[in-house]
Amino acid sequence: MEFMNYYMPTKILLGEDVVLKNSNLFNNYGEKALIVTGKTSSIINGSLKDVTSALRKEGILYDIFNSVEENPSLETIENIAELGRAQKSNFIIGIGGGSPLDASKAAGVLINNPKSTRYNLFDSPHLKSIPIIALPTTAGTGSETTPYSIVTDNELQTKHGICQRIFPKYALLDVKYLMFLPEQITINTSIDALSHLIEGYMSSNANVLSDALAEKGLKLFGECLNMIKEKDFTYIVREKLMLASSIAGMVIAQAGTSLPHGMGYALTYFHNIPHGKANGLLLKSYLEFCMDENKVRKILYLLTLENLDDLGNFLNAMLGHVNTISYEEMCLYADKMTLNNDKLKNHPAPVKREDILKIYNDSLKI
Ligand code: NAP
Ligand code: FE
Repeated sequence: MEFMNYYMPTKILLGEDVVLKNSNLFNNYGEKALIVTGKTSSIINGSLKDVTSALRKEGILYDIFNSVEENPSLETIENIAELGRAQKSNFIIGIGGGSPLDASKAAGVLINNPKSTRYNLFDSPHLKSIPIIALPTTAGTGSETTPYSIVTDNELQTKHGICQRIFPKYALLDVKYLMFLPEQITINTSIDALSHLIEGYMSSNANVLSDALAEKGLKLFGECLNMIKEKDFTYIVREKLMLASSIAGMVIAQAGTSLPHGMGYALTYFHNIPHGKANGLLLKSYLEFCMDENKVRKILYLLTLENLDDLGNFLNAMLGHVNTISYEEMCLYADKMTLNNDKLKNHPAPVKREDILKIYNDSLKI
């Protein structure tokens, strides 16, 4: 067997009222918490109230930063860090979708290193973060089980990952927070998880353990496929999707994402297409480009699909077709992608500019 490396130190707790039942775990991380969350959803779904109740019960003081936007910007991350530094926060509890969770990790690095600036997020991989506890309320990005933080960089006009690797100490999973997640966000985020499973499974870094996890995640997704089509998001379906999403996070924590993620960032940055949808639009053409036919067949089997056209039809029905992006724009995005070595190296074969352009064009042509 080839050399293998597997590391996933996040403790995962899943169950109803997981926060209230495990409030004592917060005592391990200090006297002052910083809660980082989005604009309104954590108030509506009860996750913010559960966290503040748990902290009060334990006598831990807290501050709240509650305006993380989708695809968080470096400016927002600096604002979170300013609050955390001023309040001398010992740890962060991130609540929400991938945006607040990723913002928590990046801000945690800046808080732990008071002299650091946003530029150190890309040139100082040895910097550590204060402890992060993650409560995902989408299923999802899997950020609760990955060491990655993806940020919007308006100077470079793109999204990209910070260079530090920060696994949350705990992932606290409670499906009740997802019960009122709007249909389209449920679909887009579930397809993000599907992209992680597929890209991680096809990655040049995949190994026997990441593949075992990817296959389990794909099977769980396959069990939900008909209900996703019907938009029948019961508790059981959401629980399976939440598990599939955290498993998908464990897969990409080892294997990384590749072409759909790297190519999707331009669609999000320049056309405001939600992250999961951006990946999903490119998935079928990406799989047509992948050489490992055995693995492609296994993916389809686990998803209970006959062929790639079935996958394309499912994605099209769920996401719709985007036909507002010109060929000239696709050329520009393909040029950007040819420079994205972080993603290109995760693809097991050489990728040329025309391959990238073909995936864009086959997926998005007008
Ligand atoms: P998101 O950007 O965190 O949130 C999308 C929307 O969903 C927001 O409007 C949010 O509202 C709402 N929302 C969240 N939870 C909800 C709930 N339970 N009920 C109702 N509404 C809810 O979406 P996301 O797709 O989860 O995260 C995307 C980000 O994660 C991107 O920046 C992407 O690049 C990143 N990502 C990270 C990784 C990683 O490994 N770290 C992997 C993939 C993607 P509020 O603002 O009101 O909360
Ligand atoms: Fe993703």
